[in-house]
Amino acid sequence: MKTKLLNPGPVSMSERVRGALGAPDVCHREPEFQELFGRVRRRLAAVYAAKDTTAVLVGGSGTAAVEAMLSLIPSDESSLVVANGVYGERMAAMLRAQRKNHEVVSAAWTSAMPIERVERALATGAFRHVLAVHHETTTGRLNDVASLGNVCKAAGATLLLDAVSSFAGEDIRFDDWNLSALAATANKCLHGAPGVSFVLATDAALRRPSGATSVYLDLQRLAADQAKGMTSFTLATHVTAALDEALSELEEGGGWRARHATYRARSTQVRTVLRELGVALLLERDADYGVTLTSFRVPEGRSYEAIHAQLKHDGFVIYAGQGNFDGSIFRIAVMGDLTASDLDRLGRSLRSAFV
Ligand SMILES: *Cc1c(COP(=O)(O)O)cnc(C)c1O
Repeated sequence: MKTKLLNPGPVSMSERVRGALGAPDVCHREPEFQELFGRVRRRLAAVYAAKDTTAVLVGGSGTAAVEAMLSLIPSDESSLVVANGVYGERMAAMLRAQRKNHEVVSAAWTSAMPIERVERALATGAFRHVLAVHHETTTGRLNDVASLGNVCKAAGATLLLDAVSSFAGEDIRFDDWNLSALAATANKCLHGAPGVSFVLATDAALRRPSGATSVYLDLQRLAADQAKGMTSFTLATHVTAALDEALSELEEGGGWRARHATYRARSTQVRTVLRELGVALLLERDADYGVTLTSFRVPEGRSYEAIHAQLKHDGFVIYAGQGNFDGSIFRIAVMGDLTASDLDRLGRSLRSAFV
């Protein structure tokens, strides 16, 4: 029995994707790698068919891509960060580290994005950029980016999105939502291996002067080099080959829509079992959640460690709460290579954990 990962990335890979990690060694400066990463970039941009956008590969985990995306903010322009979880706060921490002027509009982690407060803040004219998280993995809430995008558009502000745990699993309307860029990673809804992430940005945004405060994470430099067919630094070659294979799997399986439907069915199954067992959702309504992950309250008199241990014994890795929720919630993600029989087995394991 193989252990299945139900944490929000890295995910359990298919044998096909894992096989690509064993592809022949290639030099990142040779034409064969140029061809590979060029194809991966085109396929990433094609997942949502966003117009006039370019995918820029970044070496590192999702956080590297988010941080590289902040190169789109020049040091003399101010940003507004919308935070209702760990990942919104992380973007504020990055701006702090980069010494870029910003303010944070925060909400309780169990609440929706405070769109009206964002609107009021933007009305002052003080902010050129808005940063937000699409799927806030802290709780599993799918934030209302459509409404936020409208507010940004009306105020003439650019919108930069952390879509790390939603890209390829949720609907993303790059144009309708007025996005300038989003950041995502190989090893969540795309089902690749960890080590490569990317920013999908409009060509207009990439043409602006770089606001990078780092040599490695200078998005405009990475974009300019990749446009010429080279990667600025050694990109994880095997991980890129695995991402290419994962993109083939995604396309052959019917693209993000089919994956979204699969995740929805899996999450519904998990929520149904736990509801029957009397375990409560963290968020108020089922509809607050996306399809990739659900957060549950640890029931009175039980410990997260005991639940985790039982599931691990049965071959499943679940995820603890972060920050404020440490010990009081647990999370189950349904991304990655999972079969119907894995899901049934998970149901039995949950039942035995909560008897
Ligand atoms: C996973 C995740 C990240 C990045 O995490 P890494 O550990 O750096 O890959 C960023 N934002 C969100 C919303 C995430 O779920």
